[in-house]
Amino acid sequence: VNSVSSVIASLLITILSISCEGHPIEKTVEVGGVICTLPDEIAQGDLFLVKVKYRDGEEVKVGGRFLDREIRFFRTEKGEWMGLISACLFDKPGDALLELEIIQGERINHLREEIKVVKKEFGVEYLRLPASKVTLDEKALTRIRKEKKILDRIWEEETPSRHWRGSFILPTKGEYGSPFGVRRIINNEPRSPHTGIDIKAPEGREVLSSNHGEVRFIGDLFFAGKSIIIDHGGGLYTMYFHLSKILVNVGERVKKGEPIGLVGSTGRTTGPHLHFGVRLQGARVNPHLLFSLPAE
Ligand SMILES: [Zn+2]
Repeated sequence: VNSVSSVIASLLITILSISCEGHPIEKTVEVGGVICTLPDEIAQGDLFLVKVKYRDGEEVKVGGRFLDREIRFFRTEKGEWMGLISACLFDKPGDALLELEIIQGERINHLREEIKVVKKEFGVEYLRLPASKVTLDEKALTRIRKEKKILDRIWEEETPSRHWRGSFILPTKGEYGSPFGVRRIINNEPRSPHTGIDIKAPEGREVLSSNHGEVRFIGDLFFAGKSIIIDHGGGLYTMYFHLSKILVNVGERVKKGEPIGLVGSTGRTTGPHLHFGVRLQGARVNPHLLFSLPAE
């Protein structure tokens, strides 16, 4: 290992653009001639693509952390580094430290920026379900705990290489149902908020893989019913719930737009629909933000 001098560079902050709908305000910070694009703040459930642009011909490597999660940077064909960061729906509002480590030959520049995690109001939804699906007996609770453990293990094991490219696609056609983040009152009792988006579609309609990836999990879960989890690499996963049929197997590589299952109403549902969820290093994020990623 070379001996390296660690420099905290003076920062030049420019507010670049005004927030467009659903997109956080960006700011650029310069560190040793390298231009970093960061969010000014990030709302609960939001994703942001951090960009690190360096001069042509320069040898630069980037690493970093945000909210105790490692940022998985990848190099684009345009000669810059990009990495997705997020605030989980359940992350607490307040200042959070974003740390970047920019290695330029012998030099390592550290960038430390406070990014505010902003509370977001998602609204409330009132649902009625059969009492048997809400009041859970010991057998059901044991099953749910077991299933949670299996899923939690998936987020912990990260595939380092990135399979996904460009924007994600909506996995099936249909009207939007219950939105992301909405708080739920089921049979007059407050329950967990909605951690994905619902797409209303008839039983049997094709469900497509939202991007390139590898099937990490298939199974029949208490709440989610017949389910598929696709690993897109770098800690990014998409989830497809309540299916009537699963068309893929664990370990199978799938392409963006490839059919992986059929819409159904298995698990705890009020009717046929697709529940589409996203996890980035375990964080629950709004799937809509993956539909407008830049092509590289
Ligand atoms: Zn749902």
